[in-house]
Amino acid sequence: MKTPLCDFNIDEITALVEKFGQPKYRAKQLMRHISAYDSFDEYTDLPKNFIAQLEDEFTARPLTEVTRVTASDGAVRYLFKTESEDLIESVYLPHDYGNSVCVSCQVGCGMGCVFCASGKHGLVRNLSAGEILAQVLYIARDKKPVGGVNKIVMMGSGEPLANYDNTIKFIKLVNAPDGLNIGMRSISVSTCGLPDNILRLADDGISCTLSLSLHAATDVKRKQIMNIAQKYTVKQLVDALRSYFDKTGRRVILEYILIDGFNDTKSDVADIKDLLKGLCCHVNLIPLNPTDNCKLKPPTKKRAYAFCELLKAAGVSASVRRSMGSDVAGACGQLKNRTVESKAQSSKKS
Ligand code: SF4
Repeated sequence: MKTPLCDFNIDEITALVEKFGQPKYRAKQLMRHISAYDSFDEYTDLPKNFIAQLEDEFTARPLTEVTRVTASDGAVRYLFKTESEDLIESVYLPHDYGNSVCVSCQVGCGMGCVFCASGKHGLVRNLSAGEILAQVLYIARDKKPVGGVNKIVMMGSGEPLANYDNTIKFIKLVNAPDGLNIGMRSISVSTCGLPDNILRLADDGISCTLSLSLHAATDVKRKQIMNIAQKYTVKQLVDALRSYFDKTGRRVILEYILIDGFNDTKSDVADIKDLLKGLCCHVNLIPLNPTDNCKLKPPTKKRAYAFCELLKAAGVSASVRRSMGSDVAGACGQLKNRTVESKAQSSKKS
């Protein structure tokens, strides 16, 4: 498997240019092509022998599109194939206030949350920083949104903090002035809760928006839907979030998937209030997007909004998140699973 050129930052590209005996200014030319997700054919301002040397060792486009589904609200779910033939999903989300890309950071996921299609077949491998970045570059080139892509959400397949080094490198690449120059505050990292790496994130000077997938406010309940809760308590997680806030000054987000009759009752409101007391945070309520063969159901819209009002009355900042793209294989991992399953069925028939 060839190394993606978009794995490299400007210093590494400069070293590469020098290694091939090219003048230093070629680094900026190369960086421009990388950021535009150009193919080698489009590197027309570079000498042919240099392009041939690059082609021998590297890939300019580490992802190819397999399929896409476009929702009525303009959201697009892409299924990409990597050089190693692994399948990953990414989502483009246009909003009035800007354009987001939600990226995957692993092939599959080892965290095994019961409501999630991405974790259904376990972890296959980590994606490199360049493979994560390529999802953004491809979509930016494809959609050419006015104002460009200006928000990144790490909420696709995989646990970003379990692929720590590549996640950090990706954040730095996408934040770099010679890259897409997307501000730290516009980069959101969503974790199912690895407290040691939450602390590490703050120590490494990453002040992005941090979202914790809480989904239940007691250990007893959380253990029923999230494997990670066998290892870490909700108290350990909230303590880590407090440290993150103290070090970065960034309000943290709690993602809370609403599951009908399971975590949307009055006693859940009381548990959330107690757990989050004194933490500078906001709770995003997300009615469950049911995956195939999943027995869990979302609450009605009315019930979801009533739960939100109860939280607010209890002094917890909360809102119900509008779910985009839900009419097209909305939940993460479903497009991949359905594509793989239909391929398997057609090869059985033939
Ligand atoms: S919800 Fe996130 S952490 Fe949990 S299995 Fe799915 S991708 Fe992994």
